[in-house]
Amino acid sequence: MISFCLFVFSPVFADSTIKTNYLKISLSPATVKVGQSFTVFVESANQLKSIHLRCFGSQQTIYKIWHKDHPHVYRAFLGVALGSKPGTYKIEAEAVDTDGESLSIHESLQVEKTIFGVQSIQLPKRKRSLLNAKQLQEEGKILGSKMEIRDNRVYFSSHFSLPVKSRISSTFGLRRQYNDGQFSSYHKGIDMANGKGTIVKAANGGKVSLVASMKSNGKIILINHGHGITSIYSHLGEFLVKEGEWVKKGQAIGKIGSTGISNGPHLHFGISVNDVRVDPQQWLNSQITLYYD
Ligand SMILES: [Zn+2]
Repeated sequence: MISFCLFVFSPVFADSTIKTNYLKISLSPATVKVGQSFTVFVESANQLKSIHLRCFGSQQTIYKIWHKDHPHVYRAFLGVALGSKPGTYKIEAEAVDTDGESLSIHESLQVEKTIFGVQSIQLPKRKRSLLNAKQLQEEGKILGSKMEIRDNRVYFSSHFSLPVKSRISSTFGLRRQYNDGQFSSYHKGIDMANGKGTIVKAANGGKVSLVASMKSNGKIILINHGHGITSIYSHLGEFLVKEGEWVKKGQAIGKIGSTGISNGPHLHFGISVNDVRVDPQQWLNSQITLYYD
């Protein structure tokens, strides 16, 4: 009996070897279609020394964001590249805290098939020489070098807005066949048709990372919004900003034209997430989760 009482009333000391740090991970949304974006949030109980995301076979940067109630929240925007296989993908966070403890956690992303249509485009004779794979590849390299930028700072705090008021004349992901199938490519943005000279506005705040006149992409502007996000404006008729300039959401940056591979005045608008071209509609329709609850 005595031993029983001793057992019951033994004081319990906190075990100093038990670690109290932990990670939590959430995906928003947890089911996406090929070509869409999603947001990953990781929360840590304690301060971290380093954190990385592993997904789609590579390491991705995840950025610390401010939250009034949770001091250690990290966020990454990610995109499912066109051509990815539908299925379940593991999104894994690996971290080391300030005590040197390694932590990891994962969550599953469901990727659903998207059925993209086919569009036939007839280019005028004088523009047919622009359908040149080597030329497009060279321009793609220059654009890619700007879209690879992983900027630790973020230059937007609200959703993206329409760069022009216009109907969508061509959607994202279409398999395009030019001049009866001689050349085909994926359409990696949306087209917004409007009259020549219509003002094009910055979809969000950021730094103009490229202003260039290219043979195939035409007159093109890229804006770096930080945290791996770049917006793309091509086939412009005129530039109203210079490379390196800071712009606010809604600021006039250019005018609609029909330069490069284009068969009429329109804006080609795109969004790149860590150099992955995604459907801009989600970004323009406020469907991207920006903040952690
Ligand atoms: Zn386009």
